[in-house]
Amino acid sequence: MPDRKLQERHSTPLLVAGGGIGGLAAALALAKQGCDVSVFERAGEFSEIGAGIQLSPNCLKALFDVGLEEPLREVAFVPAGGEMRDWKSGRVIVANEFGDYLVERYGYPYFHVHRADLINVLVDAAKADGRIELHVAAAVRAVDDRGDSVHIDTDAGSFEGAALIGADGIQSLVREHLFGPADPSFTGNVAWRALVPVSKLPTDLIRPMATAWWGPGKHFVHYYVRRGELVNCVCVVEKDGWEVESWTERGELAELRRDFAGWHPDLGQLIDNIDEGSLFKWALFDRPPMPAWSRNRVTLLGDACHPTLPFMAQGAAMAIEDGAVLARCLASVGDVDAAFKRYESLRMARTAGVQHGSRRNARVFHMRGINARLRNLAAGRASGNSLDKLFRYDPLSAAD
Ligand SMILES: Cc1cc2nc3c(=O)[nH]c(=O)nc-3n(C[C@H](O)[C@H](O)[C@H](O)COP(=O)(O)OP(=O)(O)OC[C@H]3O[C@@H](n4cnc5c(N)ncnc54)[C@H](O)[C@@H]3O)c2cc1C
Repeated sequence: MPDRKLQERHSTPLLVAGGGIGGLAAALALAKQGCDVSVFERAGEFSEIGAGIQLSPNCLKALFDVGLEEPLREVAFVPAGGEMRDWKSGRVIVANEFGDYLVERYGYPYFHVHRADLINVLVDAAKADGRIELHVAAAVRAVDDRGDSVHIDTDAGSFEGAALIGADGIQSLVREHLFGPADPSFTGNVAWRALVPVSKLPTDLIRPMATAWWGPGKHFVHYYVRRGELVNCVCVVEKDGWEVESWTERGELAELRRDFAGWHPDLGQLIDNIDEGSLFKWALFDRPPMPAWSRNRVTLLGDACHPTLPFMAQGAAMAIEDGAVLARCLASVGDVDAAFKRYESLRMARTAGVQHGSRRNARVFHMRGINARLRNLAAGRASGNSLDKLFRYDPLSAAD
């Protein structure tokens, strides 16, 4: 039920800059709390790159809460577990049970989803929600916080709202408006991505797991998406001298083959079935945690305030959690500025922990020699603990 008091308080809409996973999920969470929301997306249509995404129980709590369980189940693959394997021998170093075990333990499953399918589910739900207005080809160009309202200039015209939420990614214009320019830094890692149709692969080559192969200076992740019809591959390699941050930058199969020469033959077979036309690479950038995310009527969420390396598969999960907590803060705290301060204070430690953890994993995944052997001995217990803390978080009650 929409909160009538909240509607009265926010008689002009809340403005969301950016219609990626974070912005759209936040719009749905805000609408559920009784707010009118306008989303402004720079691109000509809502879309995502051809790649997969892992959605863990902590963020599925927020997505199911806005009614997305059924449409997500229709496009998801549910992995039986997560496992880390040795790059050369294939030995399983760490295994975590997912499947029904996670549902019993946390009340929610683990999904592997094609990003385009996730965006379609979010956009369909937003279109069906009378409180949400979607604008495409509407890059936000300027922000003017006038104290009792916020005005934005976009490629689709000028708009006024009760507040502005910058969900506009790592190069956020809203972040720059709040805190000035600061370039993200290259992490020394380049990610390859590719989708391989299962019909091209030998039966049982890929287990029904979220699998990460750990090796010296690099790692290789694969998992099924789209009900098991495609295998998503993400391969991260330490590389200097190539710093293009764009998912549409084509990669060469010969270079990927060279990167993983000498690795387990199963990976060689997988790479052999990658169509070069579907192979892309992306330099990984990040920023350290920020000391503040908000000022007056403007705040940030997702990669705009805590870009997160993919080594815990939690960047989008953090953006989705942000939206659920932010919506509850706005619903329970009358004053926008105070609500944003409360939101920040509830979210900063968790997202900074995941940013640091992801950076740490970058070093751990890529260890060499004796360090790698010691890591393998210690990894089982540490991994179980960190997943428990991650998955147990409840964005629906964090603001209670
Ligand atoms: C290789 C890799 C694998 C990953 N795997 C996972 C995973 O398995 N699980 C997970 O949870 N996370 C994962 N992540 C992280 C995840 O992709 C990001 O954290 C997530 O997409 C951030 O969402 P966002 O909405 O905050 O930002 P973005 O996805 O960057 O969306 C920002 C949106 O804002 C728009 N925009 C930008 N500027 C403007 C403007 N001025 N005006 C209007 N619109 C604008 C953009 O067009 C875009 O649509 C991975 C990341 C990488 C690199």
